[in-house]
Amino acid sequence: MPTKRKKKSARRVPAPAKKRPAKILFHVEGKMSTFGGPNDHGMSPSEGLALFEPGDLNDPRYADLFLPAPPPGTSGLGRRLNPDKYYFACRWNYNETSRELLRRSLARVENPQNGLAADARPVDWGPNEDTARVADLSPGLAAALKLNTDDLVSITIAAEPAVAAGTKKAALVRRAGHGSSNPNLKPPIKEFIESPFHSARNGGKIDKVVLHCTESSLPSTLREFQTGTRQVSAHYVIDRNGDIYQMVRDSERANHCMGANENSIGIEHVGGETDALAAAQAKASASLIRWLLAQYDIPRTNVFGHDFTPGYSRPGGTSCPDKLFGAAHSQATIAAWVEANV
Ligand SMILES: [Zn+2]
Repeated sequence: MPTKRKKKSARRVPAPAKKRPAKILFHVEGKMSTFGGPNDHGMSPSEGLALFEPGDLNDPRYADLFLPAPPPGTSGLGRRLNPDKYYFACRWNYNETSRELLRRSLARVENPQNGLAADARPVDWGPNEDTARVADLSPGLAAALKLNTDDLVSITIAAEPAVAAGTKKAALVRRAGHGSSNPNLKPPIKEFIESPFHSARNGGKIDKVVLHCTESSLPSTLREFQTGTRQVSAHYVIDRNGDIYQMVRDSERANHCMGANENSIGIEHVGGETDALAAAQAKASASLIRWLLAQYDIPRTNVFGHDFTPGYSRPGGTSCPDKLFGAAHSQATIAAWVEANV
């Protein structure tokens, strides 16, 4: 974030690429609501599902999603869904994720506010775009993740665990927390405090992570990103104690790295000009970066310090990220830290 600039002195030295994360077939983040089951009077008694047909009731791979008998007065599969099972609907593009693929997929559904996540099955197309929501979840799934209507949800389908459609109820997963060794789990977000300073990515694919030093305290950073006249922001702010705040959705462009915002995720780290990362902060950052790399299929070599980001175009450069990742102001310092910690 800093306003100070410094002449660029070092060249980027990328570290060798390591293991490749699972391919992401589908990802969405946004508001949710609930649907399906005997008590969903927003669905007509005869309303069906986009991904399933009455014949599927007899298929052991799918029967588990439904109640054994239709609720009185209903004939459609929508009201016959078992509301305790973990299922959901999104507005699918069947050219990208075919109906057949969706019928046998398990998605990871996450509540970014509290770190709860569960695996769930796609069953329908929706909600209508007019609702400004991106997904409808089963009442049981929403309750398990402690989600209420219009809360934010994040849904991902990866190439694996595209499992054979199982009949077991998906397990609820409480995240291990900061430093989790599982690269596919997002570390808990302490609070989502929306910054107004974001815009559309215009289809830009997320392909890099940019690391910053706030050069100011947590409260002043959060305030700056909400009301500052410079209109700057970042997706994440990590406090010295490891608490992670999210301020811009990943799907949106934040204003953190002039010239390189369209394809990047920005992470601010609370610290002064001469500070190194605090231990808990380093752990949280590594955990978040690990998750981002897996989530968006970003190569490990595409984690940059602010000043060394390809496309960064502010005249004169910046001293950011200062000494957080090592004493020398160089991308080699960042790359070495990523190699050792992420
Ligand atoms: Zn910066």
